[in-house]
Amino acid sequence: MTRLSRRVNAISESQTIAMARKSRELKAQGIDVISLSLGEPDFPTPDVIKTAAKKAIDDNFSYYTHVSGYLELRQAICEKFKRDNGLTYTPDEIVVSTGAKQSIANAVLCLVDEGDEVIVPAPFWVSYLEILKLAGGVPVILEAGIEQNFKVTAAQLEKAITPKTRLIMMSTPCNPTGSVYSKEELKALAEVIVKYPDLYIISDEIYEHINFVGGHQSLAQFDFVRDRVITINGVSKGFAMTGWRGGILAAPKWIAQACDKMQGQFTSATSSITQKAMHKAMELDFDTYIRPMRDAFLKRRNLVLELMKEIKGFKTNVPDGAFYVYPEVSYYFGKKYGNYVITNATDLSLYLLDEAHVALVPGAAFGNDNYIRFSYATSEENLTKALSRMKTALDKLA
Ligand code: PMP
Ligand code: GLU
Repeated sequence: MTRLSRRVNAISESQTIAMARKSRELKAQGIDVISLSLGEPDFPTPDVIKTAAKKAIDDNFSYYTHVSGYLELRQAICEKFKRDNGLTYTPDEIVVSTGAKQSIANAVLCLVDEGDEVIVPAPFWVSYLEILKLAGGVPVILEAGIEQNFKVTAAQLEKAITPKTRLIMMSTPCNPTGSVYSKEELKALAEVIVKYPDLYIISDEIYEHINFVGGHQSLAQFDFVRDRVITINGVSKGFAMTGWRGGILAAPKWIAQACDKMQGQFTSATSSITQKAMHKAMELDFDTYIRPMRDAFLKRRNLVLELMKEIKGFKTNVPDGAFYVYPEVSYYFGKKYGNYVITNATDLSLYLLDEAHVALVPGAAFGNDNYIRFSYATSEENLTKALSRMKTALDKLA
C-alpha cells in the first residue's frame, strides 16, 4: 500500500514551479514557449560574487559552518541592515538559510501552533498558505483589491484580528502585485500590531532592491514594533542568485534561536560556498552592481504596461517594485474559441500556454482567480514577442 501523510496531502504543489515545469516540458518537445511564469532575474550573478565563491572553494572553505551562518557573514548582514535599512540587529538575531522560502518556513514552524490564526493579505505569495497549512495554522485572508492598489489598510487589519491571531505574513515590494508600502502605511500597520502583545509579523522584503519609487522601507524600522517583526530578505532577487540558495531572517534573539534549532534538524547551514558569495553580496555598492539590473526591470515594466494597452480587457495597477504585472482579466470570462471555454484565470492561462505558447501563473495561486501574473524578468525582445502572441490569441476569444 502506498500512503502519504495527511500533512503532504493537504498542501498543493507550488503553482509557480508547476507552471515553470510545464513550460520546460513543452520546450523539451521543441515548442517555442516564452516563460513569464517563474519570478527569477535573467541576469547572471555579478562576477565579483562568483570570484568570491571560487576563492572559497580554492581556500577549502568546505566544512560545516554554524547552523545560522558563519559569524563574519552574520556581522556583514547586520552592517547591511544598518546601512541600507536603519535596522539594528546583532549577529545572534540573524539566521542564514537556504533561501527566503526556508527562512519563512522556519519562522512559521517556530511561531504557529495548530489552530492559530494567521492573517495573510491577498494577493499573497503562493507559498505562504501552504507553509502555514503545514504548521497547522488557519489562514485568514484579507482582500486588498486593485482599487486600493492591492495594499491592506490598518483599519482592515485591525478588524481581522481575533484572540487567536498569532501572525501576519506579507511582502513589500509585493509578489505578485508589485505594490510597495510607504513609510506611513507601514507605520499605521505597526501601530495596530503593537496593541496585541502576542501578535507577530513576517515582513518579507526579498524584493527590497527592485523598487522604482525610492528607498525601501522596512517594517522593523519603528522601534516600538521592532521586537514583533521577523524581517525576511535574501540574495535571490536583488543579486540574481536564485540558484545559490541564500536566505536571511532577522528577528528577536528568542525567535532566531528557535529558527536555528529548527534548521539544525532539517538542513543545517546553507552551503559554505554560498555563504561566502552572500558575504560579498552584502558588501556590494548598489549603484555599481544592483542599480543597472533595477533600471532594466523598470524599463521592462514600462514596456509591458505600454504593450498591455493594446490588449483588450486587462485592468492593471502600475507596479512600483518587484518584477511582476498582475492584470485583472475577467473581461474574457464566458468567452470561447474552438474547444476552449474561459471561466476563470486558470482556464485563460492554460489557453495562453496552448494557443500563444506563453506561460503565466493564474491568480488562483495568489488568492484570486480573476487575475494572471506575468514575470517581466526576461528580455525586452521576449516580452514584445510574448505580448504580441497573447494579443493574437486573446483576440480570437469571443
Ligand atoms: N518571498 C517572495 C515574496 C518570493 O517571491 C520568493 C521567490 N522566490 C521567496 C520569498 C523565496 O525566495 P528564495 O529564492 O530566497 O527562497
Ligand atoms: N518566488 C518566485 C515566484 O514567485 C520563484 C518561484 C518560487 O519560489 O515559488 O515565481
